[in-house]
Amino acid sequence: MSTTELLYQLQQLDEKKKELKEELKDENFASQKDKIAVEIEKLEKAIKGEKEELAELKEEMKELEFSSSRLARDEESYEEQLYSGETSNPKELNQIQEKLNKTQEHKEEIEEETLDLMMKIENKESKIEKLTQKRNERQENLEELKEEHQRQQKEIKAELNKIPQEKDAIKEKLSSEAIKTYNKLYDLKHGKAVAKLKDNYCLGCRMTLPLNVIKKVKYSNELITCDNCGRILYYEE
Ligand SMILES: [Zn+2]
Repeated sequence: MSTTELLYQLQQLDEKKKELKEELKDENFASQKDKIAVEIEKLEKAIKGEKEELAELKEEMKELEFSSSRLARDEESYEEQLYSGETSNPKELNQIQEKLNKTQEHKEEIEEETLDLMMKIENKESKIEKLTQKRNERQENLEELKEEHQRQQKEIKAELNKIPQEKDAIKEKLSSEAIKTYNKLYDLKHGKAVAKLKDNYCLGCRMTLPLNVIKKVKYSNELITCDNCGRILYYEE
């Protein structure tokens, strides 16, 4: 393997390292996680509100039940007074009858209100159930996202950990001079020390190269740099 080819491989490993480090940041994960967390918070708030309203409805229901049993007792008592024969005074009997009628009317109203309220409670309960289900789904989503993220991070770190060894294996085959040149250019050219030669021009700066340079790059084992951008030229056969 030629020196330039080895240096090119070294550069690819350095690029891979940069990419993996970028992947490790995973800004996408952070924004997705925040989005779901906000949704969960909204759902929690909605559930809390609905539950408070449900508690109020149930309180109303208790009051209605209380009124209903009081009216039932009154009804029973008036009926007893009417039919027990204790009173035979027609005026008094009329008064009792009137009270009984009013009590029965009121009881019917309460029964209607109770039915309405039962419907409202049912609706509220089903709304809470739906919201709770949605919240649970979102929580599962969040857990899955976190697990997936952890798995990916682990994979990336494992890949990153392999790179120094892979670089060492390449460096062993290179002269210290070549490594020095590479490192210097790596810093100078922002991580692009080696440029491919393609169709007679340097891919590092897109300049067409003179024929003698092209020949040297292709056939000698010397390190040839581009006259224009100074990068090490690599010809891939
Ligand atoms: Zn160049």
